[in-house]
Amino acid sequence: PEPILEIHELRKHFQIASDRVVKSVDGISLTIQPGETLGLVGESGSGKSTLGKTIVGLLDATSGKVVFNGKDTALARAKEKRELNRNMQMIFQDPHASLNPRLRVGDIIAEGIDAHRLARGQARKERVAELLERVGLHPDHALRFPHEFSGGQRQRIGIARALAVKPQFIVADEPISALDVSIQAQIVNLLKDLQAEEGLSYLFIAHDLAMVKHISDRIGVMYLGKMMELADRSSLFREPLHPYTQALLSAIPASNPSERRLRERIVLQGDPPSPLSPPTGCPFHARCPAATDVCAHHMPEGKEARPNHWVACHLY
Ligand code: SF4
Ligand code: MG
Repeated sequence: PEPILEIHELRKHFQIASDRVVKSVDGISLTIQPGETLGLVGESGSGKSTLGKTIVGLLDATSGKVVFNGKDTALARAKEKRELNRNMQMIFQDPHASLNPRLRVGDIIAEGIDAHRLARGQARKERVAELLERVGLHPDHALRFPHEFSGGQRQRIGIARALAVKPQFIVADEPISALDVSIQAQIVNLLKDLQAEEGLSYLFIAHDLAMVKHISDRIGVMYLGKMMELADRSSLFREPLHPYTQALLSAIPASNPSERRLRERIVLQGDPPSPLSPPTGCPFHARCPAATDVCAHHMPEGKEARPNHWVACHLY
């Protein structure tokens, strides 16, 4: 099938002084199929959120292409732009910060309905009630304010707001990172149920592999603005190829003994280098136990080292 989203060599660079550029997103390519979830992981500063925002158009790309439903989004005319804005929604990490505290929950959920003039009056009220029920809340909650809800409930409100305009694609930017572990599984299950019912596609961003494991069909690993590895969920967990992915995996509990045995015990040392002064060559070389001379000078080309398993590392 045709992918719903294709991005080609996408870059988002920020000029922060006359002589300084931060390459937050530096040449990322990927595709997402209809109904698919692509998990995206990396430490903070790896460019995951910037990538998500650039895809949905909250940020303008420096270069590269975002193709949605076969159309280059940069070439969209005004009317198509509105349709794109409706079709690509975003859910944020901190539902507290992203919900206007002065608005009632019903009006928050209806923001997109109003902006796109999808319903008014009684129809709008009914749509909001239906959305609240879809995300496991009560229709009466429409009249309350965000502060009256727990973190998990606020994230449900954020999800209802995104769903309200019937999007095809949602970027979920660390939607469970701020929640208690017990609540995380509930939100993941809700997103999976909604995906099955609506045929939604997700880019699901998190800072560790445990959080994306149960929702992703494929997983991408980013480091300092670049994609290090991209593979089917099962191959990534069974046979992580990139030393950085191996390090991320060794930091989370294995779910069974064979998984545990296959994982190399690589412990991540220190923090990632500053995006302000990125290293030459492979961005991971200063922390990589397998680094050789070539790694410090040449960025490895990405290649399909196994079927449907892409990696950027000189070891392959
Ligand atoms: Fe390590 Fe070299 Fe591979 Fe980078 S290219 S991950 S430094 S082995
Ligand atoms: Mg982020």
